[in-house]
Amino acid sequence: MSQRIQYYSTNRNLAGIPGLIPWKKSVSFREALLHGQAPDEGLFMPDPIPVITIESIMALKGKPYTRAAMLVATAFLADEIHNEVLEKIIAESYNYQVPIEKMIDRKYIMRLDQGPTASFKDFAARMMARLMSYFRDPGKRLNVLVATSGDTGSAVGDAFKGVAGIDVYILYPKGEVSGRQKKQLDTIGENVQAVSVLGKFDDCQNLVKQAFSDPSFAAFNLTSANSINFGRILPQIIYYVYAYAQLAASGEEIVFSVPSGNFGDALGCEYARRMGIPVKRLVMPTNENDEFPRFLETGVYEKISPSRACLSSAMNVGHPSNLARFFDLYGGTVDRGGAVHRYPDINDMRRWIFSTSITDEETRKTIRRAYDQYGILLEPHGAVGWRGLEAYLERYGDFPLCVSIETAHPAKFPDEIKDLLGINPELPDSMKDIDQKKGASFELPSSYEEFKNYLQTRLKVR
Ligand SMILES: *Cc1c(COP(=O)(O)O)cnc(C)c1O
Repeated sequence: MSQRIQYYSTNRNLAGIPGLIPWKKSVSFREALLHGQAPDEGLFMPDPIPVITIESIMALKGKPYTRAAMLVATAFLADEIHNEVLEKIIAESYNYQVPIEKMIDRKYIMRLDQGPTASFKDFAARMMARLMSYFRDPGKRLNVLVATSGDTGSAVGDAFKGVAGIDVYILYPKGEVSGRQKKQLDTIGENVQAVSVLGKFDDCQNLVKQAFSDPSFAAFNLTSANSINFGRILPQIIYYVYAYAQLAASGEEIVFSVPSGNFGDALGCEYARRMGIPVKRLVMPTNENDEFPRFLETGVYEKISPSRACLSSAMNVGHPSNLARFFDLYGGTVDRGGAVHRYPDINDMRRWIFSTSITDEETRKTIRRAYDQYGILLEPHGAVGWRGLEAYLERYGDFPLCVSIETAHPAKFPDEIKDLLGINPELPDSMKDIDQKKGASFELPSSYEEFKNYLQTRLKVR
């Protein structure tokens, strides 16, 4: 039997911060999943990180995605969940394609945009939803509250749709989502209710936070499905293992380029390397929110606040929430506000990670060049990834096997693509009928009393 994996907090070594008691214990995956974050507001970290052998990885060559998912998931969860249950969860989570397209020579694009909401967030949200359904207290309903400014809400909402024992409430700011985003959120249906709030994203987040700390909801099982949950990181390890097995010769080194915002996606690659994938370098390009590339260059970390509005809007992050995990893995500690308490080993980080900031201008040029030169259609996030990979190759004059990640479907950015290339990208099958779908949201003012009344009439205990 392997050593049991436990989950500790990234804040366990903090000292001397008023009102904060570092949490020095550890919990199982189940508790990390259901609680989301540690009692000291740190992020959960697995220890030890399980290792998979190169033989087991190479045995995935030519096999379906679900096989790679089983290899990674059992490495983490074999002690806590039966194989047959995991097989079922994985089969339901990954019932769509994961295309890998050749750009040139040994350089590939992996498209993580074929899920139901056409964003890579589907990969994590679908598996996490089913794990939550399995691990929840038997006989007790789980009520998930999510505040969203767009894409995360639709991926999470869709992932929980029809999942037994769970109800979901998605709060979004009425005036801040696009028409198509609103349509996506309002038409999920079944056990997922969209709540349109007359306010800003921060107002939605405050309503959710107040509900979590309100004793009148103590009898209900309220939880959040936010992006720092380790249950969303684990599934993001899988596609790196899958891509490696499909493309590499045994033991060959690979470079992955991952367009980065909150660093959850890139963290999946960091774990894949530590589990045994021969990752030569993890390239983490950002948009003009360049706090991380500047940190790698100067050794000093300064968050950007407020964050800069760029074309790759899902990456407009000035202090990535998963930076705390990267710091921890390299021996440092940074808190939620962005204050560094202990610096990580920067030379070790530079050895494994390359980061660079890509301007909107370069992003647009890259979309045009990828299409003209290689006939490959990228959207703004994927273009940041590809340009970042090119910058790495130019810097190091290197010719390894490379995979750059495309995180959203180009049809989600019709205006930009039309402007740049003069074409109208076709919606993926999963979204084809979106404009015709009917659905409705519940509209609320941004008042906690009203939200509380609303919840009280709807929440169910079992
Ligand atoms: C969320 C998102 C990203 C950024 O991923 P992180 O894990 O936050 O770094 C990139 N592209 C798209 C399309 C996204 O939705």
